Amino acid sequence: MNLKGLKAVFFDMDGVLFDSMPAHADCWVRSFNMSGLNFTHEQAYMNEGRTGSGTINLAYNAQYGRNATQVEIDTIYGNKTILMEQWPDGGIIQGMPEVISFLQSKHIELWVVTGSSQKMLLAKLNTSFPGVFSEDRMVTGFDVIHGKPHPEPYLMALHKSGYKPEETVVIENAPLGIESAKAAGLKCMAINTGVLSDKILADEGADIVVKTAAQLLTIFIDSLTN
Ligand code: CA
Repeated sequence: MNLKGLKAVFFDMDGVLFDSMPAHADCWVRSFNMSGLNFTHEQAYMNEGRTGSGTINLAYNAQYGRNATQVEIDTIYGNKTILMEQWPDGGIIQGMPEVISFLQSKHIELWVVTGSSQKMLLAKLNTSFPGVFSEDRMVTGFDVIHGKPHPEPYLMALHKSGYKPEETVVIENAPLGIESAKAAGLKCMAINTGVLSDKILADEGADIVVKTAAQLLTIFIDSLTN
């Protein structure tokens, strides 16, 4: 893919920087099952990035043909949160530090664009990727009204960074994230770190689908080294 003139890379966080999706998916499945709802790991991955209430309403509509009540939403999301606290941290996606080091050597700006609004986000990023990401180069759940798959998070990243679409590329792992990036008019590299088929990610409009960060590194080296 053509990355000529690249100035900034917009990283999604869960499933791209951190191997956190197995925990999210498993806790969603267990929390739904506790409330008597059917929900699969694949559905969790298909809906990755959707708000908690949005995901819960989808499951209620599928099973009961109606939205969940606020009490049902609070129960399922509350149980999911408790279950998540019992999981150990997922660690970093293998090979991603090498991608980041290479991009830094080429003076490419690194941004994080995530729907997550956890207060500990920056601390976690700084622990895992020391000195790489800064608060003024982040778009989080606090910055936008509409989450992914709406284009707002990536449009906000363009606005905050001041770069043109052709000077940037997005790295995403999830269908809704790819949809968001493409709706914002951006190039999108998909890294398939989950359980879905590559075809699902390609069908969302990803410009390329890879399995590993090492493959991403090869593409960046080929594109940015003369
Ligand atoms: Ca993700």
